[in-house]
Amino acid sequence: MDMEREFFAGFIKIHILYHAVHDGEICGAGIARELATHGYTVSPGTLYPTLHRLERSGYLKVEQRTERGRRRKYYSATAAGMKALAKSRERIKELVEEVLERG
Ligand SMILES: [Zn+2]
Repeated sequence: MDMEREFFAGFIKIHILYHAVHDGEICGAGIARELATHGYTVSPGTLYPTLHRLERSGYLKVEQRTERGRRRKYYSATAAGMKALAKSRERIKELVEEVLERG
């Protein structure tokens, strides 16, 4: 993985966690669309393992439902996920202050 992708992989995880907390529930397709609006092109081969890792780390919980004959996984944040987001938020604020505001 090149360095730029490594940075973005972190940003993408934060986006996913943020939406899981604030939107209540997210599905893979929805998050892919949302990430695209931020300029990230994330293939299913990258997105689903990322969601799976967030789940295995205890930040997301998954629920499988069938809608119009299609099985879909919906992800929502756990208490640990909310805590991790709150912690990241402080770091992001610091980073933004330094990188954007100090130039
Ligand atoms: Zn977002």
